[in-house]
Amino acid sequence: MSRIAIKNIILENIMGTEATVKGWVRSVRNSKKFSFIVLNDGSCQDSLQIIVDDVLSNYSEVASLLTGSSVAISGNLVLGGGKNQSIEMQATKVEILGKVDESYPLQKKSTSLEFLRDQAHLRIRTNTFSAIMRVRHHLAMATHEFFSKKGFFYLNSPIISSVDAEGAGEMFTVSTLASDISKAPKTKSGNLDFSRDYFGKETFLAVTGQLEGECYAMGLGSVYTFGPTFRSENSNTTRHLSEFWMIEPEVAFADLNEIASLATDYIKFLISYALTHAEKELNFLFSREDSTAVKNHMEILKHVRDAEFVRVTYTDALEILSKVDPNVKKFEYPTSWGSELQTEHERYLAEEHFKLPVIVTDYPKQFKAFYMKQNDDGKTVRAMDILVPGIGEIIGGSQREDNLEKLINRMDELGMNQEPLWWYLDLRRYGSVPHAGFGLGFERALMYITGVNNIRDVIPFPRTPKNCDF
Ligand code: ATP
Ligand code: MN
Repeated sequence: MSRIAIKNIILENIMGTEATVKGWVRSVRNSKKFSFIVLNDGSCQDSLQIIVDDVLSNYSEVASLLTGSSVAISGNLVLGGGKNQSIEMQATKVEILGKVDESYPLQKKSTSLEFLRDQAHLRIRTNTFSAIMRVRHHLAMATHEFFSKKGFFYLNSPIISSVDAEGAGEMFTVSTLASDISKAPKTKSGNLDFSRDYFGKETFLAVTGQLEGECYAMGLGSVYTFGPTFRSENSNTTRHLSEFWMIEPEVAFADLNEIASLATDYIKFLISYALTHAEKELNFLFSREDSTAVKNHMEILKHVRDAEFVRVTYTDALEILSKVDPNVKKFEYPTSWGSELQTEHERYLAEEHFKLPVIVTDYPKQFKAFYMKQNDDGKTVRAMDILVPGIGEIIGGSQREDNLEKLINRMDELGMNQEPLWWYLDLRRYGSVPHAGFGLGFERALMYITGVNNIRDVIPFPRTPKNCDF
């Protein structure tokens, strides 16, 4: 008999028929004449309860199965007698596919997320991780559906790049010279001679796909990237990964307001999609003891889905922060015009002051990237950050400088070399148009929606400083 997914049994309410299910044993409970197996196959949050009668020829072997064993079970699907009247299976045949012994690491009923991080190859077999990863899948599908329906084209921007787009110096070098570093060619000054490297120049793993996105928006109108992004920043925080996924839409003929609305709609769409497609998963995750999801996380998500996002300029945000009574809330970092907003400030604005996602716009140019559109005041740029309660910054975006002269002046001011970006400047030289875009950290969005408080737990195999196992 071919197997059927537990998800389909539940969704289609299949009963009164024979079926075969295959999966991993979550638990075995033995009573006098029966065993109850709770089986999960990963297809959905629910497991199927299976009753195994002691008349089965391999009953004793089945009754001694440990959590984690893999089995194929055939039997009749019937309405269970329990309180919630769910579907159960009465087994007629249990085939043991792969046994487990006492050394199986996932023994305990509830295992901490921290412990499971060291078991990244097995953790997907827990209810918690399979829930997170199913939500991850749905949010990826939601992303494609959202942009595609709005007429955006999906762009695969390159992963190997020769430009330092963010200028943050947080890039991984891609080189074949290191395979024998003692024989690596050196320049006169003793540095590695990248002109003799694989690509004939120094190359990096992409920190963004934005610049390429801008090129393609100039022909396709609206594009979005959704791919891996790499940053060698040495920040061992619960919100930073060395390898993460980013969604970067770029829109021609758009200004900052349009992109802020797009970002708002996108976040709301992600939430409603997750609520429609993964409500059981979310409810399960919010009920975890170590969940940071506040008691009413579900209500908060629904609120954000339906609420207006607040828009405030950086200057006004500083005004708000400067008026905070230090006896009520003491910030570690001072707030003065021209300084960066720290996470504590971002969270204060979103969580305590507005209690809503906040779009902060028009930041001082000194801590924003060279490509952002300069405002007439000469001090600020048309940038936005979207701050959400519980996380802080989730989206960063801007209108781009479309004036060639202004862009070149800004690059000069920053001491940037124009040569490697000649093609980027060409976009302003030939048929330049106003355009804007943003970047959403996919894992940050997942943390926000699932209430999981460590970014290492929302990506299958996290890469962080000093950690690249599996
Ligand atoms: P942060 O201040 O949190 O380090 P950033 O200013 O460096 O963020 P951007 O360069 O604007 O971030 O990148 C766009 C988005 O990518 C961010 O809004 C965030 O959601 C996400 N992001 C940035 N760095 C990381 C990282 N190391 N790991 C995971 N997501 C990240
Ligand atoms: Mn950063």
